[in-house]
Order: sequence, then structure tokens, then C-alpha cells
Amino acid sequence: MSKLFVVATPIGNLSDITYRAVETLKSVDLIVCEDTRVTKILLDHYQISKPLFVINAQNESRKIPELIEKIKSGLNCVFVSDAGTPSISDPGTRVVNAAIKNGIEVIGIPGPSAVTLALSISGLPTDSFVFEGFLPQKKGRRKKLNELSAEERTIVIYESTYRIEKLLNELNEFMPDRQIVVARELTKKFEELWRGTASEILNGFDKKIIKGEFVIVIAPQDFKM
Ligand code: SAM
Repeated sequence: MSKLFVVATPIGNLSDITYRAVETLKSVDLIVCEDTRVTKILLDHYQISKPLFVINAQNESRKIPELIEKIKSGLNCVFVSDAGTPSISDPGTRVVNAAIKNGIEVIGIPGPSAVTLALSISGLPTDSFVFEGFLPQKKGRRKKLNELSAEERTIVIYESTYRIEKLLNELNEFMPDRQIVVARELTKKFEELWRGTASEILNGFDKKIIKGEFVIVIAPQDFKM
């Protein structure tokens, strides 16, 4: 039976992709992606031309069984998300689950992920950490922040432009003394890191430039830089 390759792609800089990922993208029959416009930018950069098959939250219940049939019929397929490692705060898990249930071999091609990159340059303890992905936007958000205020490991959170300032204000309320690293637009033109407590970071923020994609890494309670 054919295989499903789960391939990590860049989180910004298009050069951040492994040789093996490019070779795999070039060698398969079909590339499964979230959004053809995003994936085509990467494929054009590496001069790869392959049929694309879109699976997203809106169509997955119909498209996943179709994909499984294609793989069973002999097509080797790659699954990519818009950026970084599939299944990490991204689609992928359902496709991988369906493949496993159907006895299809799943092969991962590793590469960038914002969580590991932010941790690796944070300078905060990484021997043990908890990855929260995106916090709930409304219901349950304060409860989650309250729970996290008792967390003893390093915490990693993903946040968007729209809520970064709100999140820093909440962190100032729930964990005012913790050391925090805010990483913006990693690997991209406007990459920037802020370090300090939530209030120190808020004071250093130029409101005009709080745009982009963010990872927030929060140190354990007693950690001092
Ligand atoms: N699968 C991706 C990964 O492996 O990191 C995560 C996808 S998730 C939909 C998108 C979120 O990841 C963004 O809102 C941001 O929190 C984080 N992210 C992705 N790329 C980033 C980057 N270049 N710099 C900072 N954060 C990033």
C-alpha cells in the first residue's frame, strides 16, 4: 500500500525546509494542503508542480475518506499545513488518525515549528514545558489563565495580532512576576523578541508595530534570567 508523508514546511523564511522535505514533495503523486494559495508559494519557489488536494475544517468529513481511497489505490501523498509542522495547532491530526485506522503507513518529515524555535532561543528552561497552543478566545479563557498561574513548567502559548496586547495584560494580571519571552514573526523580515515581565514588555511595545504572529514563552515561577 502507498504511504502518507506528513511534511513540515517553513514558518516564514522559505529556505527553512529540509532537503528530504523538498525531495519528498517532488516525488509524491499528490500534495494535500489547507490552502492552495499558500502551498503554491512554497511549491513555486522550489519549482515543484504537483496536483493539489485541499482538506480543511469545512470539507474534511467528505475529503478525508476520499484521500484514504486515493492512498489505498496506490497514490503516494504528502500532507502539509499552511506553515510549520502539521498537527501542531494546525490540521493534520484527523488525516493522520484516518490513515492509521486504515492501515496506511505514516511517515513524518521533520522541520520547523514555532513552538520549538521560540523555546530554543528563549533562554528559559526547556527540560520540561507545557504547550498550550491557542488559549480559548472567550469562554474558559480566564479559568485557563488561572490554572496556568499554578503551572510549574515553562509554558508556551500561540497568539495572533488581534489578542497579543490583551494576552500580555492578562499575564500581567495572572502572573505579574514571571519572566516572559515574546517572539514575533520568527524567521521573517520583522522578526523581534521581547524579554521581561508582562508589564515590562507592554511598556516596551510600540503599539503601531504590534502586528504579526506571536509565540509567548513563560518561565516557571522562580526562574530568574
Ligand atoms: N503548525 C504551526 C507550527 O508548527 O508552529 C503552527 C500553526 S498555528 C495555525 C499559527 C500560529 O503559530 C500563529 O498564530 C503563531 O502563534 C505561531 N506561529 C507560526 N509561525 C510563526 C512565526 N513565524 N513567528 C511567530 N509565531 C508563529
